[in-house]
Amino acid sequence: MVKKTLDFAEAEEVKLVRLQITDINGTLKNVELPVKRLEEALLKGVMFDGSSIDGFVRIEESDMLLFPDPRTASLLPWKSDFEKTIRLICDVMLPDGSPFEGDPRYRLRRIVEKAKTMGFEAFAGPEPEFFLINRQENDSKTGGIKLLDRGSYFDMLPVDNGEETRKNIVVALEKMGFEVEAAHHEVAPSQHEVDFRYTDILQTADNIQTFKWVVKTIAMLNGIQATFMPKPFEGINGSGMHIHLSLFSKGKNAFYDPDKSYELSDIAVFFIGGILKYASELTAVTNPTVNSYKRLVPGYEAPVNISWALGNRSAMIRVPSVRGQATRIEIRNPDPTCNPYLALAVILAAGLKGIEEEILPPKPVDRNIFELDSGEKLKRKIGFLPGDLKEATEKTEKSILVREVLGKHIFEKFIETKKLEWERFMKSVTNWELSEYIEY
Ligand code: GLU
Ligand code: MG
Ligand code: MG
Repeated sequence: MVKKTLDFAEAEEVKLVRLQITDINGTLKNVELPVKRLEEALLKGVMFDGSSIDGFVRIEESDMLLFPDPRTASLLPWKSDFEKTIRLICDVMLPDGSPFEGDPRYRLRRIVEKAKTMGFEAFAGPEPEFFLINRQENDSKTGGIKLLDRGSYFDMLPVDNGEETRKNIVVALEKMGFEVEAAHHEVAPSQHEVDFRYTDILQTADNIQTFKWVVKTIAMLNGIQATFMPKPFEGINGSGMHIHLSLFSKGKNAFYDPDKSYELSDIAVFFIGGILKYASELTAVTNPTVNSYKRLVPGYEAPVNISWALGNRSAMIRVPSVRGQATRIEIRNPDPTCNPYLALAVILAAGLKGIEEEILPPKPVDRNIFELDSGEKLKRKIGFLPGDLKEATEKTEKSILVREVLGKHIFEKFIETKKLEWERFMKSVTNWELSEYIEY
């Protein structure tokens, strides 16, 4: 694999190498090297100062190593300083060669290993949504943000900057080796979605990071901005990142059983049971910003309740109608501000716990949950997702499962960061408060 990467770099006359990692907040970080250091990087790793990365280490123990994963080598599809560049996603190691406990990619690797010991391989495919906007215009109603179109779901608009940008995004992703399955206008004006093919869960987390970077870069090159903010505008749909997930065992879909109710295996049902049981503890990880909870309100195709359903899009987990090898669940609460390594790690861990503990979920909900009254919800054992970041953080702080999955290092840093974020929010005075209370 190392030789293949070196040969590839030579054949493509690559000049620069970008090594990438993700910090605890889900932000992609990178260091650039001249290509002559590629071999050394692949074989021995590259030293860097971990203390400068959010949530990594203290300054006294800051020497760390980046180990590029050759599987992630890909040529950048846009010109960078007119030189050909490849990027590689890295694992973070300590100087003694052991994995760094605070590396989000390592946290996911651990759960993937656990799944393997239970006989499963996990596959995931995301559906990230985003808005394309223009921030130059000064429109005080939307905070100086201009939407680019008035389109809606699947609309085919006259070619404007938004449509053109989405097309360029798809082309760039394909050049980087993504298999784009569909790209379309979403329900809200200026909102888009690009779905790419599912793959093993670690690669999907890598792909989500690459995807967000590509979307933002291509938008910028087209003179506009892409935002993955979960609820940028009141009154219209927000942006989610639904996760489709399945387990395979010996090459066969372990969620499928033609002889069981709904043609779902016990494994699938327990997996759903686990996610539902731990849902409120995981939410701060899958929906990690103050703004995330403005999306999780009734009426905008985003879930509010802890529930599962077969076709019904108002539930938190939906089971799409396909069966056989394509049997999967769709988890609808995550949003694209999550750190995908951590979010996929906690979701997979909760599902596996469900299998280990044989957790049976309540019956699937066959009605629009937004129309059920509270008595009915109680009867059907439908709980609520946390209502805001404060509540979510408090639930996560008490979670034995999340502490174990994130590891002490990330867990403590994460809780501290989220508490500070909430404190900053509580000190701010919003436009809503001004318009509501200024006449008092
Ligand atoms: N935008 C919706 C959300 O916030 C999802 C719409 C859809 O079903 O694709 O999750
Ligand atoms: Mg969508
Ligand atoms: Mg979906």
